[in-house]
Amino acid sequence: MIKVTVDQHSGFCWGVVRTIDIAEEELKESPELYSLGPVIHNPKEIARLRDKGLETVGHDDLARLAGKRVLIRAHGEPPSTYAAARAHGVTIVDATCPVVTRVQERIRKFHEQGFQVVIFGKKDHAEVIGLLGQTDNEAVVVRNVAEAEQVDPSRRTVLFSQTTMDKETFYAVADVLRTRIGELVVGTFEESAIDFHAKDTICGQVSGRDGKLREFARANDVMVFVAGKDSSNGKVLHGICREANPNTHFVEDERELQPGWFEGVSTAGVTGATSTPQWLMENVRKAIETMQEHTVITK
Ligand code: SF4
Repeated sequence: MIKVTVDQHSGFCWGVVRTIDIAEEELKESPELYSLGPVIHNPKEIARLRDKGLETVGHDDLARLAGKRVLIRAHGEPPSTYAAARAHGVTIVDATCPVVTRVQERIRKFHEQGFQVVIFGKKDHAEVIGLLGQTDNEAVVVRNVAEAEQVDPSRRTVLFSQTTMDKETFYAVADVLRTRIGELVVGTFEESAIDFHAKDTICGQVSGRDGKLREFARANDVMVFVAGKDSSNGKVLHGICREANPNTHFVEDERELQPGWFEGVSTAGVTGATSTPQWLMENVRKAIETMQEHTVITK
């Protein structure tokens, strides 16, 4: 009989728990609330909240939502969104994660001081759009070392990170920028004149999970990673899980499980992204157990 365990360190980070709590509190007051973009990258949780009255809308919908309440999710939004909401008479329910708010504030400060802001992240990610907005969209977004090679090295520069990126690449990008900016000032100024700052703003809720996830993945014969296919954090954590245990399978829910994955193994681990609800991982665990019972009966 296979032993199936759910990773106790996986699931929602506190920023997402907070956002959902805020949404549910608002929905108790009245079952009409709009979320600007999907509240979480998990279709299952979105469906659960939709049943309670949370509807996902886009920026273009603000114009028709006068007098309605619109939730800003954990990723945050650029200042232009707040301005549009004000212009259209929309009430904002701000559930931006406080960690993200703090990064926005720090970026804004450096931008105002005339720094070139470089953001290590994904250009189209909602959080990055919110961060870019703090600099009037003047910040440079880089996703890897090759893109860091293209950044103008002649300016005072500060590097920040989208909160869900991986640390290793962040420090590699920081090294490239530091070296290039350093090369330019050598011979003209003292080396201490290098004006480059690297601010590691990767969230501890994500990076702290790496070690525990690796341990958990190695302790099981087979791993099932549960997340929405669009979750950025899910992709990072899935990569780590797979690296620690190549026998890892990605699913959105229990319907994607395949009996063949569990043949001849004695332990299975179920884990997920920061956007994966605990109840969904429990469903996957139960489905694996049921699958095994069924296999035993039909043999
Ligand atoms: S991962 Fe961190 S920054 Fe992102 S929502 Fe969760 S707590 Fe906030």
